[in-house]
Amino acid sequence: MVKIGLQISGTLENVAKLVAPQPDFTYFMKLQCASCQEVTDSWVAVSAAEQVAGRSGRNTVNFLSVCKFCHKEKVMNVLQETNTPYLKDDEDRFKTIIAFDCRGVEPVEFDFRDGWTVVSDGGREFTDVAIEDGEWVDFDEQLKASVGLYDMKSKFVKV
Ligand SMILES: [Zn+2]
Repeated sequence: MVKIGLQISGTLENVAKLVAPQPDFTYFMKLQCASCQEVTDSWVAVSAAEQVAGRSGRNTVNFLSVCKFCHKEKVMNVLQETNTPYLKDDEDRFKTIIAFDCRGVEPVEFDFRDGWTVVSDGGREFTDVAIEDGEWVDFDEQLKASVGLYDMKSKFVKV
């Protein structure tokens, strides 16, 4: 098993934190086969809420698939205990927000999509936030100010 961390970076406007709520958050990724290096051309959904039977029958895993080119098994688990919010202090710097246990596979691309929780500087919680083209903007009536996420980027690192 290889541990791979998802890092994100972005600019936060009147936002105190950005969280991927567990276990229901779904990570959409493109995966590269560790054997033949082929990358899936479609986005693959991986979530801690998904429990599929592993091949050994002993454990359940969060994602299981077989490479359509070399037929090797690909297994991924969301390490929920590594879930970390992205905070104001982390602004414009890459920070690991979750790690995955990976066997036979490496994630290479991440799509933010939806399901995020954002807490504004005024404490208001926005749920099921969708980040499109690296951005999300809303308005906090209590703060009487716009709240937003801008220039959101991601990358994967070995941990
Ligand atoms: Zn393969």
